Amino acid sequence: MAETKSTCPYCGVGCGVVIEHEDGQITGVRGDPDHPANFGRLCTKGSNLHLTATPVVIQHQRLRQPQKRATRSARPEVVSWDQANREIADRLLAIRAAHGPESIGVYISGQLLTEDYHAFNKLARAVIGTPHIDSNSRLCMSSAVVGYKQSLGADAPPCSYEDIELADCVLVSGANPAWAHPILFRRLEAARAAKTGHKLIVIDPRRTETAELADLHLQLRPGTDVALCHGLLHAVIWQGWTAPGFIAESTEGFDELKELVRDWTPARAAQVCGLDEADIWRAAEWFATSPSSLSLYCQGLNQSSSGTAKNTALINLHLATGQIGKPGAGPFSLTGQPNAMGGRESGGMATLLPGHRDPGRPEDWAEVATLWNVPDLPDRRGHTAVEMFEAAARGSIRALWIVCTNPAQSMPDQAVVRRALDRCELVILQEAFAHTATAKYADYLLPAATWGEKEGTVTNSERRISRVRPAVPPAGEARADWRIARDIAALIDAGLGRPPRLAAATPEALWLEHRAATRGRDLDITGLSWAKLDADGPQQWPFVNAATPRLYTDGRFATADGRARFVAKPYQPPAEEPSPGLPFALTTGRLRDQWHGMSRSGSVPGLFAHEGRPAVRMHPANAARRKLAEGELVTVRSRRGELVLPLKLDENLPPAGADIAMHWGDEFIGAQDGINAVTQGAFCPDSKQPELKFSAVAIEPA
Ligand code: SF4
Repeated sequence: MAETKSTCPYCGVGCGVVIEHEDGQITGVRGDPDHPANFGRLCTKGSNLHLTATPVVIQHQRLRQPQKRATRSARPEVVSWDQANREIADRLLAIRAAHGPESIGVYISGQLLTEDYHAFNKLARAVIGTPHIDSNSRLCMSSAVVGYKQSLGADAPPCSYEDIELADCVLVSGANPAWAHPILFRRLEAARAAKTGHKLIVIDPRRTETAELADLHLQLRPGTDVALCHGLLHAVIWQGWTAPGFIAESTEGFDELKELVRDWTPARAAQVCGLDEADIWRAAEWFATSPSSLSLYCQGLNQSSSGTAKNTALINLHLATGQIGKPGAGPFSLTGQPNAMGGRESGGMATLLPGHRDPGRPEDWAEVATLWNVPDLPDRRGHTAVEMFEAAARGSIRALWIVCTNPAQSMPDQAVVRRALDRCELVILQEAFAHTATAKYADYLLPAATWGEKEGTVTNSERRISRVRPAVPPAGEARADWRIARDIAALIDAGLGRPPRLAAATPEALWLEHRAATRGRDLDITGLSWAKLDADGPQQWPFVNAATPRLYTDGRFATADGRARFVAKPYQPPAEEPSPGLPFALTTGRLRDQWHGMSRSGSVPGLFAHEGRPAVRMHPANAARRKLAEGELVTVRSRRGELVLPLKLDENLPPAGADIAMHWGDEFIGAQDGINAVTQGAFCPDSKQPELKFSAVAIEPA
């Protein structure tokens, strides 16, 4: 038996794994004891990874050969790679010639490796010439990105996982790490057990497993996080718990923010958020007066039409109290996907450019043009995820190339997404798994290599770059994502009569191009190499001469003048509020043992033992009032669509709340459009992240 070190492909904790394999077959997996994210531990999902690569799964669930549909209603037929590549290049060239490069959109994924991201970024912007490239990370972390940039000057989580052990007070907001980031939660549990007087505050409308551990659970009304943060800051200022020296030396904009929160007394915040006023005072005191306070946050803040405001309001609390830039302190966004961070670093999104450059700055475009040696880049921001599918539904995007993601399940407001896919002249789906909801819309299905078969790097939530290594050959004729992009790019360039613009022959060569784009930037990794990662293990950026575990320790931030910014954004209610006809606030969340659309985790029967079928949850009091019983089929109806699901009663929800796990697609919910039939595409004006965490719905007997 042989062993290969790699990383887990599920969440942003980025645990190291040791893959056991024999004769080209993965036989086992265990935690890598040397990886600083997990020190040998794995959660249920990670420890079952080898079961997603059995011969049975490869035979029945993997996409193993390129396929083509003659018409949308036809069964896909196997074709050669040569034929698929040539026909796709010809059709993209024809659409480009007839309607312009902007008629083509590329939608990629936080599951891709950094090298894949770099390849697709060049394919879209440099080869096809379209600005419309975005990632499913838009649904996940874009509010955290913009929050960091507006407040601290750069998209850089300032903390390390070791801060979980060092903090005296931890505030978890809009996150359930007990289920979504289990290995970090184990570290939090151990830290609490080891530290007398440790404080844990959890802000969440649901009483989750994480909230069960808390000293104080602020079970706020969904969508009212900004009001709560303003109330907490009011209490901090009123009691004199601010850090005046830090505010004067290292920040700008405190007076304007003070003016904004003047009216947000804890009493008012308590009324808006549905909380006890005393709890707000207590939380403010613990957070402000503990020697070190860390916040951990995720989709509850990000997936919101006020996502950026929620992020900046929380960062305001850190800046006002000086809880940043020291051990155990700082605002720490937990990334959902394994390489959302790498996608941000390589700039493979409509609102980003390589090396944390900004599409709004002409000088940044000029630098990318020089780095890539491509003079005619489409130097403007493209459509973000929701905008891209809306454009396709309108007909202005005519071809979509979708990579390693399943928008016909994961995007909000499925009616629009499916109209978009139906209307496109050409849909290319590049995937490892054969039976995703998006597959039935694809004209071409391109088999992609996946975990255990790929080589490259990923970056986890604490800015740590890890190597991903192949243990076995790709299933069937599957190929690495970057290679698929490169081969079709070469045919497009040839068709346009120019030399290849995406010519790198190995993933390491792509990584070196990415590294060059970081020189002199906040994420500079010019001191790193694959050889160093292989010799010394995973490293945190920036890395010029050494790794950087913690940012802003000198009180200087990544803004032009070195000062952080207090961002004064008023509280805005969710985009659609409950009404007499749609009285429930529906949230979406994760299950402990499933991952996203289940294309990988759904191949392991044992992972359904924890929760085996979809359901909508509501508080028993509301069910009793409506004469609804546990297990009864109910219709969940929003302004966009409806679902029929069994009802589960759950005392852990707020009275007017409802909840459906995000993972369930068509195949589990019968002939319906998955749970996103009812969610909304309204998005944050700054981050463009959609409000997946809040939809007004009715729940009635089916
Ligand atoms: Fe994988 Fe995340 Fe579990 Fe670690 S915590 S094993 S990265 S799913």
